[in-house]
Amino acid sequence: MAEKIAFITRKQAEEIDALIPTPFHIYNEDGIRKTARDLQDAFSWNRGYKEYFAVKATPNPFILKILQEEGCGVDCSSETELVLSRACGFKGKNVMFSSNETLEEEFAMADGLGGIINLDDITLIETLEKACGIPETICCRYNPGGEFILGNTIMDHPKDAKYGMTREQLMKAFRILREKGAKQFGIHSFLASNTLSNEYYPHLAEILFRLAADVSSETGIKVSFVNLSGGVGVDYRPEDPKNDIRVIGEGVRKAFESILVPAGLGDAAIFTELGRYMLASNGALVTKAIHEKHTYKEYIGVDACACNLMRPAMYGAYHHITVLGKEKAECDHMYDVVGSLCENNDKFAIDRMLPRINRGDYLFIHDTGAHGFSMGYNYNGKLRSAEVLLCSDGTFKMIRRAETMEDYFRTFDFTDFQFK
Ligand SMILES: *Cc1c(COP(=O)(O)O)cnc(C)c1O
Repeated sequence: MAEKIAFITRKQAEEIDALIPTPFHIYNEDGIRKTARDLQDAFSWNRGYKEYFAVKATPNPFILKILQEEGCGVDCSSETELVLSRACGFKGKNVMFSSNETLEEEFAMADGLGGIINLDDITLIETLEKACGIPETICCRYNPGGEFILGNTIMDHPKDAKYGMTREQLMKAFRILREKGAKQFGIHSFLASNTLSNEYYPHLAEILFRLAADVSSETGIKVSFVNLSGGVGVDYRPEDPKNDIRVIGEGVRKAFESILVPAGLGDAAIFTELGRYMLASNGALVTKAIHEKHTYKEYIGVDACACNLMRPAMYGAYHHITVLGKEKAECDHMYDVVGSLCENNDKFAIDRMLPRINRGDYLFIHDTGAHGFSMGYNYNGKLRSAEVLLCSDGTFKMIRRAETMEDYFRTFDFTDFQFK
């Protein structure tokens, strides 16, 4: 069982807390850079390879700038994410726009940035044409339907997913798009989330590579890029298997050599849109124990709540907890670690064996760097926390201030109410 190690110490938590009070999300710059480099190494066999970081996972400009320095692009799905990316200087083929139920103005903005538009549905051709005309480079999202099976496990049910086009629709869409002037074509698919198998990407690649070969033989259109999207997961639990990105990249290469090269598509570029894999383990939520309660169970109350990290409440997701300064202490106490929402699912851990926790202890909630802060909300009038970057030189800096009540009430600024 792999030990999960916090990337800050109790002393560092105290230093940060003195300036930026808990709770806060903290990100590890070194870890982010290393993850990006290892990913790019794993796919370096492919000349056109590019990672488009899924902005929704961690929509912070300081994080996006680090990824930009490492050569990544961005994957956006809304106007706001496009504006955020534009502010960081992303443009042209460094922007992927993978949206659904898209508005004309969103297409227009993505196209204005010179980004690659990924169409979720054949009917969106009309929307896109109205918004900005058909660009030269275009991508279509595929949904194979049925069940997605890996080995003998059902990983997901694409037939129930709202995303993507059927095979027939995709073929038809490509023909229409070509007629309307498109010249470069890509295909995209996202079939399972948070996968913990080195086989996910290679298997998805096989499906998409075969489709690309069929597109070529049925329509004469040469697919020039294949976007494997997101879905590579992380080991949230200490006992989870860890994905090996080298093995994954090698698996995709084998499928590439055996399917795409013989189909005459050996020039195709591979794209990814990883969010979770890039950031989850490189971020944590740091919160302070503020109360203990002994009723029918033992509770530790903390100053963060589900508004800061929704995954446990929403999916029953496991997030490992390290009590800073007690890394070596025995886990001989069983606790529910809870936030203050008037919702009984506001629990970061249930029946978790942890060291004895005292008020004032810092809890390091692991693997919150993706889909953590970004899924935050304001229920019970709870305010969003700050975000902090642990820089490569060991210093830390605030990369987002905590929300204030003023921010919360701003949407009433057209009224005369006084929130003082
Ligand atoms: C959410 C999403 C991603 C990123 O998914 P992860 O699970 O974070 O890797 C990539 N592409 C699209 C289109 C998405 O919706």
